[in-house]
Amino acid sequence: MKFCTHCAGRLRFAVPPGDDRRRAICSQCGIIHYSNPKIVAGCLALWEDRILLCRRAIEPRRGYWTLPCGYMEEGETVEAAACRETLEESQAEVSIRRLFSIVSLPEISQVYLVFLADLQTPLFGPTPESEDVRLTRQEEIPWDALAFPAVERVLRAYYKHGAGVNELHMSSCTGPPGR
Ligand SMILES: [Zn+2]
Repeated sequence: MKFCTHCAGRLRFAVPPGDDRRRAICSQCGIIHYSNPKIVAGCLALWEDRILLCRRAIEPRRGYWTLPCGYMEEGETVEAAACRETLEESQAEVSIRRLFSIVSLPEISQVYLVFLADLQTPLFGPTPESEDVRLTRQEEIPWDALAFPAVERVLRAYYKHGAGVNELHMSSCTGPPGR
């Protein structure tokens, strides 16, 4: 971002008084443009003993497998975002059971919030965002072809602890994005 979204003035970067980080400050109207992490909302969507996985049809990580997830939109709840992303990526309609996992990715300023959810019916299919969608058993998980480290964390937590334990799994991934 080079220009102010309020007045189109040129931005300069400096540490504001009382702050300890460099911020984008408008040289014209003085507004400070804070940049904060993005929330990625998604679902660990279950049908019997299988998990819904999507093979990405778009970059980044095209051709790799992911849980349905994506950036939360302004004006929606995180649960609605998780359901919307699941529908957009897999055509599946889900009902949310509970929050299952929080994964922080400080190096790319993202936080994943992944909900345990149930498919309402075993109906799903490819979408513009997913070239393939499958219900996957544990032994079929493509561990070497997962799109994002956060997805691997969530899946490993699920198979270690299961859905029955009413526990929230928190972890963080550091290192370069992707693999
Ligand atoms: Zn301005």
